[in-house]
This record gives sequence, C-alpha cells and structure tokens, in this order.
Amino acid sequence: MSVSVAIVGSGPAGFYTADALVKSDADYRIDIIERLPTPFGLIRYGVSPDHETTRKVSKAFERTALAESVRYFGNVELGRDVGFEELRSLYDAVVLTFGMPRDQMLGIPGDDKAGVIGAAAFVGWYNGHPDFTGLDPDLDTEAAAVIGVGNVALDVARILAKTRAELTATDMPDHALDAIDSASFSDIYIFGRRGPVEAKFSNVELREMGELENGVPVVDGAVIPDAVTGEMAERDVRLKEKNLATLREFARAEAKPGKTRLHFRFYAAPVEVLGDERVEGLRLERTAVVEGRAVGSGEFFEVPCGLVLPAIGYRSALADGVPLDAKRGTVENTDGRVADGVYAAGWIMRGPTGVISSNRTDGRLVASHIDADIKDGKKPGREGLKALLAARGVNFIGYADWQKIESAEIAAARAGAPRGKFVTVDDMLAAAGAETARREAG
Ligand code: NAP
Repeated sequence: MSVSVAIVGSGPAGFYTADALVKSDADYRIDIIERLPTPFGLIRYGVSPDHETTRKVSKAFERTALAESVRYFGNVELGRDVGFEELRSLYDAVVLTFGMPRDQMLGIPGDDKAGVIGAAAFVGWYNGHPDFTGLDPDLDTEAAAVIGVGNVALDVARILAKTRAELTATDMPDHALDAIDSASFSDIYIFGRRGPVEAKFSNVELREMGELENGVPVVDGAVIPDAVTGEMAERDVRLKEKNLATLREFARAEAKPGKTRLHFRFYAAPVEVLGDERVEGLRLERTAVVEGRAVGSGEFFEVPCGLVLPAIGYRSALADGVPLDAKRGTVENTDGRVADGVYAAGWIMRGPTGVISSNRTDGRLVASHIDADIKDGKKPGREGLKALLAARGVNFIGYADWQKIESAEIAAARAGAPRGKFVTVDDMLAAAGAETARREAG
C-alpha cells in the first residue's frame, strides 16, 4: 500500500518536502494541509511585494501540487479542524512545516506601547495576510525606527520609503498602498546592536536602499571599518567586504534635501520604548562588539519617533500539542526527526534563517528519513482525512479552488500589478465558490 504523508504547511519547506517525495522512487500519497485557503506561505506573505521575481518559485511548487500523488487541503487548520494526534493516526508520516509566524518580542520596557509593531505583523499587513488585514498601523509620524539589520529590516525600511509610483505595480493591497502613500516620513532609522561587519543583510538588498526615488541612505563613514577582520570563511569575508564598500559609498554620497533619510545606525541597542500609551521615542545604549557580542557602554541616547518596528526574528505559534523547544522556538527534533512517524522541515525545524532554497535541503533530508523509516503504508491517509473533515463540516479548498482564487486575483490587479490579493478568508472562499458553512456551523 502507498505510504501516506501529511505535510502541515504549504510554504517553501512544505512544497520542497512534497517535491522530494514526488521524485522519490517509493510510492507516496502526499497531502499538503494549509490553514489558509491560499498556498505558498512566506512566498506569498513574507517575500516583499516589490520582489515579485522571488515569488516565481511558486510556479515550480504548482507543478508539485498538480502531481498525480499530491493533493492540497487549504483552509484546514491543525488544532482547529484536525488534531495533531488525529493526523498521526491517519497518516504513516506527518511532516510539520508550519514555520514561525509570530514576532520575536523586543523584551524591553515599553515594547507593548501602541506603535510598536513587529515585522511579522507589519509585513503581513502590507502583504495582505488575512491575520493582519485589520492591523491599521498609525503611520502619521515623521520618524520610524526599525530594529535589526537583517534583510527583513531592510525590506520594511525600503517599503516605508517607497512612493506610490514605486509600489503601484506590485501586489501590495490598496489598504497598505494608500496608508504608506499618505505617510510622510522625514527619517527612518535602522538600528543594529552590533557593527556593519556583523550585519545580516545581503548586498543586493543593501544596494536597493541607494536606488530609491524618494529616499536616501545616511551612513556615518567613521563607523565603517577599513577591512573585515575576525574568523570567518573566505566567502563570508567577500560578502561582508561588498557590504562595507556599499556603506562607504552611501557615506560619501551628497545630502539630498527633501528626501526621506534612511539612517543606518550601528552599535546601538534599544533599551526602552518611550512615551505614554503611544510610542514617542526610543532610548538606546551605545555598544561595542566584544568577542562577537554587543556589549553596552553605559552611554545612552534617544531618538524621537512614532513607530518602532522590530525586525529581530520570529517565533512559532502553539500548535495542538506539537512538542516545541521553548528556548529555540522550534519543534523539538534531531535533524528533522521529531517522533515516530513525525518529521519537521524549514524554520520550525532549524529556526528563522537562510534563504528560500535552504528549505530544499530540508525537504530532501526529511524525504530521505521517510524513505529510510517507512517502507509500507498502513494507515488510511487521504480517505481518512476526507471522512474526518466531512464529519466536521470542514469545507476544504482543493488546488483547483485555489486556481479560481488566483484567476480572480489576476483579474482584480491594478494596472501593471501581478494580482490584486484578497485579504480576508471569506473573500477567498467566495472567490473559490466555496460555501462558508463551516464557519457558520462553528
Ligand atoms: P536575521 O537575518 O537573523 O536578522 C535579525 C536582526 O535582528 C539581526 O541584525 C540581529 O542582530 C537583530 N536582533 C536580534 N535580536 C535583537 C535584539 N533583541 N535587539 C536588537 N537587535 C536584535 O533575521 P531576518 O531579517 O528576520 O531574516 C530572517 C531570514 O530570512 C534571514 O535568513 C534572511 O536572510 C531571510 N530573508 C531574506 C530576504 C532576501 O533574500 N531578500 C528577505 C527577507 C528575509 P544580531 O546579529 O546582533 O543578533
């Protein structure tokens, strides 16, 4: 009998795992279970709207979704519609690939004030994720502070600085496009608690900061070291040197009055969010890097700002009894093995690092574990899941339903944009022609 595999999560880790199983010689029946009607996870909701080419990988995922042995079960949530132990009893293998959808908190006094918005929520909002459609951030402030110097921090700062003309041909939903267009930031700060060498952003993303229609990077050349020092691979040295060269270019550039200033401030660790109920500023401590770590100097400074956007990493959301490693925020696992017949891939396995294609390695690893561990299917798999969902009145979305949603989004796109995203689950279901009976039935 075919080995039945349930993959929970339809982002890159889920699809790369499915792809590796499809390509295996063994006989698998693979069901991809996704809590939203729409597939592709971070490709749709994490990749920046102005980086449409990065999203093209979803075309390869589509080929996987349409493979004979694969089915898509959208709008089915682990813990709400089907339990973790139920999935284990229905499938020979369960692969957890549901990522890290929540924000890492700053953990400093005042980080709960209105106007402190983590990147998961903020990026989700401007990318049309239904969880964050109602976020309604108040962008009526002259200055914003982005915390962190990774690629997500640069995405957030860049998007805030872009003009309507730069964003209109993207799939950013109107609610976000209008709000960002109406904002008029004079200053956007990007704070790194360590130095330019330790910054995590990549060079392509950094250079984009110098190509903005209405934004100009501001860098203090005095903090850019002459060379990359410290123990690291040759390739890393080359990448870091490129970043330093770009930052030096930014430091040399002439001031451009009237443009939004994007201040790169290194060696600055946030210690307190200032203000009453709302953010009014940020207090930071100057740091030095000692043995790779940011160490406070005891010298503090403040910047006035009405918005604080931590882009400092992610954490998992609780998922129905799945064993989580509280410290790392991942599923407890050893190289992708979680428990008998249970596996994990992607961020939930190794933490929120790497690029999209890193998930291909994870998917192949997990598929090789399943190949080695399970030779014969013994469990009901797909038919069992369908029976359970039918008994509960759960109205799942198949891949053909998603294609209807996608066609409707393409038809609704602004001129030049790839799609006009639906931003609520009900609108997605309506576009798929699916009934909303499950919600009404509770
Ligand atoms: P990241 O690359 O790990 O960067 C996180 C940043 O937050 C670091 O600068 C980190 O500083 C800082 N940070 C962490 N905790 C902090 C704290 N308590 N206070 C102040 N700063 C703190 O993570 P990310 O930007 O969220 O990106 C996640 C992954 O997605 C990365 O692998 C990234 O490359 C990838 N990604 C890629 C792209 C792209 O290729 N275009 C776009 C988006 C995301 P320390 O280094 O000092 O810890």
